[in-house]
Amino acid sequence: MSETSPRKKHIVLTSHPTGNQKPVPIRWGAADARERGPVVATPAGSGLRNTVGSYSGSYSVYRALAVAAGSLDPLHKPDLTNTAPAVDLGPFPQWSDPAKIVSLDPWGHLVGSVFAGEIAAGLDVRPTIAVTRARLTVPELKHREGPRLEPDGEVLMASGEVNVTKVALEPTWYLPGIAARFGTNEHDLRRSLFEHTGGMFSELVTRPDLHVFLPPIGGITAYLFGDIKAITDPARQLSCRVHDECNGSDVFGSDICTCRPYLIHGIEDAIQTAQQGGAGLIVYNRKEGRALGEVTKFLVYNARKRQQGGDTAAHYFERTECVAGVQDMRFQELMPDVLHWLGVTRIDRFISMSNMKYDAITGQGITIGERVPIPDDLIPDDARVEMDAKKAAGYYTPGHVPSEEELSHTHGRDLDKY
Ligand SMILES: [Zn+2]
Repeated sequence: MSETSPRKKHIVLTSHPTGNQKPVPIRWGAADARERGPVVATPAGSGLRNTVGSYSGSYSVYRALAVAAGSLDPLHKPDLTNTAPAVDLGPFPQWSDPAKIVSLDPWGHLVGSVFAGEIAAGLDVRPTIAVTRARLTVPELKHREGPRLEPDGEVLMASGEVNVTKVALEPTWYLPGIAARFGTNEHDLRRSLFEHTGGMFSELVTRPDLHVFLPPIGGITAYLFGDIKAITDPARQLSCRVHDECNGSDVFGSDICTCRPYLIHGIEDAIQTAQQGGAGLIVYNRKEGRALGEVTKFLVYNARKRQQGGDTAAHYFERTECVAGVQDMRFQELMPDVLHWLGVTRIDRFISMSNMKYDAITGQGITIGERVPIPDDLIPDDARVEMDAKKAAGYYTPGHVPSEEELSHTHGRDLDKY
């Protein structure tokens, strides 16, 4: 760093408020963005910061690395020219209900325009949501056997490609609201977050005046199909799949689970509903392996396939619990926030069998019409173990729920059969 750099030479601790730290006021749930105030998460040292954590979720660690490696100017501020949302979304009444949206900043995509004056004056405030357009190539749509969707030239092109609007959302947690959603108190939540991230964010326990936390976790991508206005129009149909990341199946086509086939089924239903004048929505949450991570997930695969009697549906959840201590850490409680953000009040076709997702969404006051299970012929052979175990555990199925006895007969592939 040059001698003339305005970057501070000394490390500024923000763990305790001092005379020159005057966080920009933030009023969660206020009726408009200016009244709410900007989420300011500039690097430590700015007394204006009103958050714990840093922009970009888990990628903030790479930004720190880039600065350490000398490839990023630590004082760089984004040039937001031409980055505004590609389509208008909101505002919706849910944005100003502090109990409805607690895990994202409903104004996060409008930062560049709403706070243009502050940004021009030097305040480093960044978007936490971005809205763009994309054209998808989904091989299954072109190569599947049996009847295919008919191109319409707007949603589905003759080439087989699909036009969508896509939205990336970074987590922005309002800690009092998060605590309420989980039935705990803010103090205990802050302490747990502090202790179980190795003390990564001391402000969680020393700065009770800061209530917004940008956690270093993965975000959400929402894919919107068809006329966006149909999402909030009760007279038109909405198809929706809420999908949790499964890199092994989603990207690489691993056959041990139903993730990609069900995701594609959701995309097909989204296209079809959009073609009929409604809208389709796919919400993709970065919560790999039930938010346990891929290492845990692969350990569980081995434990399942090596156990006495081989991989059976009867012991599917038990093996996960042995390794991880819990069956699932996705905690769907926060998931409906993105639906509230999109103005969703009802889902006509819910492309999911998860009782946890269903309960979380309806528990937030969003009604669900039809629940659409994965068609049987889309379930890969080795994924029968997962599917039967989930049905027995309470997943929605209009068909047969396997008994204990039947679960012990559903077997997966042995480790030496690959
Ligand atoms: Zn999967």
